[in-house]
Amino acid sequence: MTDGTDRAAHGIEDIRAAVGRGRAAGRSWAALGARERRTALLRWKRALASRADEFAEVIAAETGKPVHDARSEVLLTLVHLDWAARNASRVLGRRRVRPGLLSVHQRALLAYRPLGVIGVIGPWNYPLYTPMGSIGYALAAGNAVVFKPSELTPGVGVLLARSFGEAVPDHADLLLTVTGPGSTGAALAGADGPAGVDKVAFTGSPGTARKVAAACAATLTPLLAECGGKDAVLVAADADLDAAADAIVWGAMSNAGQTCAGVERVYADASVHEALCARVVSRARALVPGDAYGPLTLPSQLGVVERHVKEALVDGGTAELGGPDGLRSRLPGPVVLSRVPEDSPAMTEETFGPVVVVNPVRDMDEAVERANASAYSLGAAVFTRSKAAGLALAERLHSGAVSVNSVLGFAAIPSLPFGGAGESGYGRIHGEEGLRAFAAPHSVTVRRFAPAVDLMSFATAREKAARAVELGRKLHARF
Ligand code: NAD
Repeated sequence: MTDGTDRAAHGIEDIRAAVGRGRAAGRSWAALGARERRTALLRWKRALASRADEFAEVIAAETGKPVHDARSEVLLTLVHLDWAARNASRVLGRRRVRPGLLSVHQRALLAYRPLGVIGVIGPWNYPLYTPMGSIGYALAAGNAVVFKPSELTPGVGVLLARSFGEAVPDHADLLLTVTGPGSTGAALAGADGPAGVDKVAFTGSPGTARKVAAACAATLTPLLAECGGKDAVLVAADADLDAAADAIVWGAMSNAGQTCAGVERVYADASVHEALCARVVSRARALVPGDAYGPLTLPSQLGVVERHVKEALVDGGTAELGGPDGLRSRLPGPVVLSRVPEDSPAMTEETFGPVVVVNPVRDMDEAVERANASAYSLGAAVFTRSKAAGLALAERLHSGAVSVNSVLGFAAIPSLPFGGAGESGYGRIHGEEGLRAFAAPHSVTVRRFAPAVDLMSFATAREKAARAVELGRKLHARF
């Protein structure tokens, strides 16, 4: 497992062994007090922070992204781990809740207990930050984790588990990494018979999520699925166009466009469409591939990106910058398209390359309608000088997160849950919901005194009980 080679292809027996070790470690972890768990996780966080360069180098070597991008990814990871460690006991610890008038004689207590062992299956595009959105929160909630990183980024997963074992040696088996191709992930989800995990947290494409869901179904194992996106940016007539263009180019081109909540579609009010396009083009033209962003990590993705751009042009779109010719190498140049029909693949499918489409719309009503028409529903952004209008537009967007006057604003705010709907998956990571995603509510009542009329006793006279029920009914009919 963690001590094996980064390229080992682990199968169901290795996975069951890892889950068994994780479960044993998880028992003593769950039995620790919340304060001790927090202390241990913060110790690990400090160790990760002091090894940031080592992590960034492995991330950069495996994905091809520039080291400065990889360092930002490490920082985002630290911010989330810190929040999960510091907030777990507040969010999940036992508390009293109101019992209500009918049960005034009861004390009602609610706590959240760990699920056990969580199987985390990760992607390659943010190989540390993305899976840690599940791993850090699952550990903070008292669980053990068996992590299957992408086959393109196994070294990050191996280093992550090793760093945990070194920082928290008394609970080293709490985070174990298994490596291998899709078949290893499938086995972890239960495709080769029960793997023994209590929940699967998957991040990847919707097609794979369907297979994982099918495998989980056999054992009724719950699943959290974080899939792709086709995020839209709405630009109103009154927007600061320079700020919007700056954010659009960064949101679309950073990490070579390989961001689940990256900018792929822009809907600009027709009155500012041309001016916005000019600003987007001039900023995108200035980017130097290889410096601003790295190559496409998955070579076969180039074919998808090229197909989307070619079909967009055949369908009547305009190439404002770049085009199919610039997409021949794994380090493609930025592409800005405009006036692409809404049914073209560049508007409907996840492109995952340095490509952005800027389409004009009649007004923001049409922008909302088009943004919401996608099968994906992950993130979105709105640019307008009116904060009230920005909030009103945000309300109308179906995506799980909306940024007003920035893009991806939620990514660095650990208290905000993150996740989507439709092809973007289901469930939430991050924030309070992200902690509760890896915990089971546990409800306890303690009877404090005998009620005046005990409706749960055969000893209560039937007429007395009937009068009490009728009184309750009348109260509910009035208020
Ligand atoms: P992918 O679906 O190809 O693979 C994801 C993981 O699943 C890998 O570890 C892979 O080995 C594993 N896998 C493959 N087949 C499997 C199977 N049958 N059963 C179980 N596991 C299997 O995705 P990818 O190419 O690694 O990642 C890119 C995708 O991830 C994009 O769609 C992107 O938008 C999405 N993503 C989403 C988020 C988010 O938080 N919503 C974050 C990052 C990436």
